Amino acid sequence: MTLTEQVAERVAGVRTRIADAGGDPDAVTLVAVTKGFGPEVVQATLGAGVVDVAESYAQEMTGKAAAVSTAARQLAVRWHFVGRLQTNKVARLAPLVRLWQSVDRPELVHHLARRAPSARVLVQVDVSGAPGRGGCVPDDVPGLVAEARQVGLDVSGLMAVGRGGAPEGSRRGFRILRALADDLGLAERSMGMSGDLEVAVEEGSTMVRVGQALFGPRPERNPAGHAPSGGRN
Ligand SMILES: *Cc1c(COP(=O)(O)O)cnc(C)c1O
Repeated sequence: MTLTEQVAERVAGVRTRIADAGGDPDAVTLVAVTKGFGPEVVQATLGAGVVDVAESYAQEMTGKAAAVSTAARQLAVRWHFVGRLQTNKVARLAPLVRLWQSVDRPELVHHLARRAPSARVLVQVDVSGAPGRGGCVPDDVPGLVAEARQVGLDVSGLMAVGRGGAPEGSRRGFRILRALADDLGLAERSMGMSGDLEVAVEEGSTMVRVGQALFGPRPERNPAGHAPSGGRN
């Protein structure tokens, strides 16, 4: 079996999981999280018909994007950035990123407005109650959304990372995200990963971000923070 066939099989498996959880696999966007894997995995993903591809580290994304072949690029990859975003990385990522999923503070909003005018963004919300996952606290979301709109960003929704551990542990946070998005009239709700996508779909996810369920366990990152393969860091 080729890598592309293998990924295609896993994609079908994830779509089945979405359907089994009561979601419409055509309506829930599947974003493939390729962090930790090389450019060949991005190409296999595109070959398997998934064009939404996410990275968490700026240098890994730019290196991988450069390494992906022209042919794959013609398959119209849509890059998402889902990791902790430093303001000094915005300019370099701006030509690539189609959806900034981890916007969580005013400083970042203003950098994006300058370096990526009218960019499409999601506001990341910390609904986990566990520190260190990024995101702004729920109380700050309305203000941050308003500020982002005021500077011309296209805020299409909210994003959250679940608690990790048992999938049920993510439900309460996903409910909070859903309610916040509804209150603000935001259509996109990016929630659910390999471990908790059923719970996310049950709670109204419109976009799941899946890595390990498509590609298997991620290789360890080395202490310098570089990806083991594919990184032009
Ligand atoms: C790594 C990552 C994912 C994918 O996680 P898996 O467990 O591999 O599915 C999704 N979202 C974010 C923000 C991530 O950092």
